[in-house]
Amino acid sequence: MLLNEGSAAGASLPHSHSQLVWLDEEPPAVREESDLTRMLEGERVLERDGVIAVCPFASRLPYEVRIAPADPEPDAWESDLLAPALHLLAELVRRLYAVEGPSPLNAWLHNGRHWHLELLPRLAVPAGIELGAGIHVNTVPPEDAAAALRSARPDQ
Ligand SMILES: [Zn+2]
Repeated sequence: MLLNEGSAAGASLPHSHSQLVWLDEEPPAVREESDLTRMLEGERVLERDGVIAVCPFASRLPYEVRIAPADPEPDAWESDLLAPALHLLAELVRRLYAVEGPSPLNAWLHNGRHWHLELLPRLAVPAGIELGAGIHVNTVPPEDAAAALRSARPDQ
């Protein structure tokens, strides 16, 4: 499952929509996430209904958020926590909009060994250092991003 919101985030249609893409094998991005402890290291934003949201310490872009069951689970489609996780994702998008205004973003589900959602707002454009060296320059530290998202008052 993936979501592209806004042309700057690669959306191909002007209206909000989600896509389901099934891959025959685990994609490289999931293969590289074998260590759940490291993957969920970050500044805690919220915890609700057995689901946690963190801004990773190595966030690639401002306000990157990962959402996962507090106790790791292998399969999102079999989990009672998928719906609460998606509700939390929607709330975090509203909180992001309260902080930064309507923003292009991507979100996706990784259904690997420990399923999780990732939210990647596209408030910065990857430039030479990101594309040429693979080094991400993030101008909003995850501690500040988490604090801003925590204190945001989204319209309900
Ligand atoms: Zn992931």
